[in-house]
Amino acid sequence: MADVAGTVPEPVMGDPSPEGRFGRFGGRFIPETLVPACQELEKAFRSAWGDPEFRHEFSSLLADYAGRPSPVTEATRMSEALGYRVLLKREDLNHTGSHKINNVLGQALLAKRMGKTRLIAETGAGQHGVATATAAALFGMECIVYMGEVDIERQKLNVFRMNLLGAEVVPAMSGSRTLKDAVNEAMRDWVATVEDSYYCLGSAMGPHPYPWMVRTFHEIIGIEAREQCAALLDGGVPDVVTACVGGGSNAIGIFSGFADTDAELVGVEPAGGAAVGRRVPGVVHGSKSFLMQDEVGQVLEAESISAGLDYPGVGPEHAHLADIGRARYEPVTDDEVVEAFQFMSKLEGIIPALEPAHALAWMMKARDELAGKTVLLNLSGRGDKDVAQMQKLLSGE
Ligand SMILES: *Cc1c(COP(=O)(O)O)cnc(C)c1O
Repeated sequence: MADVAGTVPEPVMGDPSPEGRFGRFGGRFIPETLVPACQELEKAFRSAWGDPEFRHEFSSLLADYAGRPSPVTEATRMSEALGYRVLLKREDLNHTGSHKINNVLGQALLAKRMGKTRLIAETGAGQHGVATATAAALFGMECIVYMGEVDIERQKLNVFRMNLLGAEVVPAMSGSRTLKDAVNEAMRDWVATVEDSYYCLGSAMGPHPYPWMVRTFHEIIGIEAREQCAALLDGGVPDVVTACVGGGSNAIGIFSGFADTDAELVGVEPAGGAAVGRRVPGVVHGSKSFLMQDEVGQVLEAESISAGLDYPGVGPEHAHLADIGRARYEPVTDDEVVEAFQFMSKLEGIIPALEPAHALAWMMKARDELAGKTVLLNLSGRGDKDVAQMQKLLSGE
């Protein structure tokens, strides 16, 4: 439909510009050596996404292998306790336990189409590494996962899982020895092996086309949720849609289903890694976005109870959504997250991953503001991987 000026209005979450920009964010800030790889990838993705056969194969994998659609569950007891209606989008029920499988199946399928035989990935909590190792096993590909040495220590079980799945886990020993260092190592590997390797990036970040491509593979979360909410809400949408934000992929996936409605979009960040909250623009890992940095532009270490959110930057589209006021971003502390983790476990019989427990922590804090509303929480993953860490913490070890 034409607006008054006679031009077609831009959709709130449309495609990025040809340079990969979302508003003033995104783009491709990479060394010369990586440019051809990103160009090849962009071309391959555009062609694949326009190919009905690729789309069909992707949809079939999501259904038959990942177990989609994931349901929307009415959280009755939490609703009662909080004083407003809570709906949960159950990405925790996907194969491998989180939303990450959507993106990984899409990228592995693309890698296969491009004739690559080796998948490279970085991982924080280990969930993206497990998902990538899973896809590599499914497609018979070699798999190398870079993981910060600190995270390897925090998430031993996931390291063992990746090994079981046939992947090699390589410790990233530089910097804070966490997720951002693993990304650097993975990029270094990719530059050297691009001929037969595919870099399977784990969130809606990095150089163009990654933020756009990763969002596209996660749009299924929003598409399903929109339909499922319409069935529950007489064709309506929730008042608020909320999700945790690390790099921003699960949030961008669910936001994409509601960006064109009047639902309020709320991303929740750990207080120790509040990249959007601080509103400082900068370049990290190949694109322009908001990130945690000091006065001289040095990237700060993010700190969070959850390895999956322990990242100093955020995907460029979130920076853009914050910039234009379409989404807002709220911080929560580790203590608030620990409380939310136990709250959902006790009241719903669902042990959440620590990441989505951030979004719930905000919902608990914002009770008064949310009174009487309907809130959709993207439950991005299950808490099995976090149980040992929580046991230690709660028993005071
Ligand atoms: C990895 C992970 C996240 C954080 O990544 P995003 O790209 O911000 O979604 C959130 N929740 C779970 C369960 C994860 O495994």
